[in-house]
Amino acid sequence: MFAFFNIHSMCQIAMYFSNDSVKPYHQSPTPATSNDTIEPGRWLCPSPEEKNMKTSILVIDDSRVARQQVIDILQQNTLFQYFYEAGDGIEGFKIAINQPVDLIICDVEMPGMDGFKFLRMLESREELQDVPVIMVTGREDTEAKVRGLEQGASDYVTKPFDPAELLARVKVQLKIKSLQDKLKRSNQMLLELSITDPLTGLHNRRAMMESLQKEVHRTARKKTPLSLVMLDIDHFKKINDTYGHQNGDAVLKAIGAELTAQLRQYDIAARFGGEEFVLILPETDIKEATQVAERLRQNIASLRFEAELANLEITVSLGVASTQNKIVKSTDDLIREADYALYNAKRGGRNRVEVMTGF
Ligand SMILES: [Mg+2]
Repeated sequence: MFAFFNIHSMCQIAMYFSNDSVKPYHQSPTPATSNDTIEPGRWLCPSPEEKNMKTSILVIDDSRVARQQVIDILQQNTLFQYFYEAGDGIEGFKIAINQPVDLIICDVEMPGMDGFKFLRMLESREELQDVPVIMVTGREDTEAKVRGLEQGASDYVTKPFDPAELLARVKVQLKIKSLQDKLKRSNQMLLELSITDPLTGLHNRRAMMESLQKEVHRTARKKTPLSLVMLDIDHFKKINDTYGHQNGDAVLKAIGAELTAQLRQYDIAARFGGEEFVLILPETDIKEATQVAERLRQNIASLRFEAELANLEITVSLGVASTQNKIVKSTDDLIREADYALYNAKRGGRNRVEVMTGF
């Protein structure tokens, strides 16, 4: 169902980092000599765009020679563009929380924080739990292999490294990680779709009700006012009947865009249903909410459309309610009062803002 992430199609320049310069691998492969020290924990910070593009690996081993062997093997492919190194678990953990890492190869036996403790530290950070870790063990060390896998490692390799085996195991883990990432993105998209009104891009009614419930609880806890504005397009049926449903949809979209433009960071705009919209205004008293509603009324009345709708002038009626009024104790109360104020605005001649009574 999901296409594999094509690592080979990505930037083909492999890089690694020495003390003083960045050397593109394809131009100047640097042999691992004793003079060529790559200090643990040294790396070049990729820009945010690069972070999204490049694949990176973190190699943790107290032996510089062992780290270099791993890097040499992996540099013969273009699997990774960034190589990070660390000499023990603590240093490795610091890099992992500061840099996007796609895969970690971690030695078991290290002074300070060993491989097992490192695994536990990774588990403690939600954002790092999905990063695959390949443990490095001795060939005969079955206990370490089993313990590592039990503690969350994805796989293991044994010293001395067999290059083909290391590469194969790394590729498998990258493939799994890539699939997991795709699945996560798909789930995120599904979640967004499930809370969004497809026409206007605003929250849908279900998402609005959930948000309102949370805000009502927060408001009770913090003793701050919460206001709700209900908006209904005047004579919308006539717009649909005169200009057709496609044009009716264009009007709904324009109102949605106007609501979005007016929002502050914590406000929530939703399509309540049909031609009815709701604005949730946290930490906003009835006076401020009424000003917001009045500004919206005026802005919408001055909206102008093109082509077939060139002569169309739209007005809206708005009802405002707030938790400042003692009769409001629940989301239902707030919606009922805003709805009643909206009803008064309609009855009073439309194109106006009405406020719940009792202030
Ligand atoms: Mg070691």
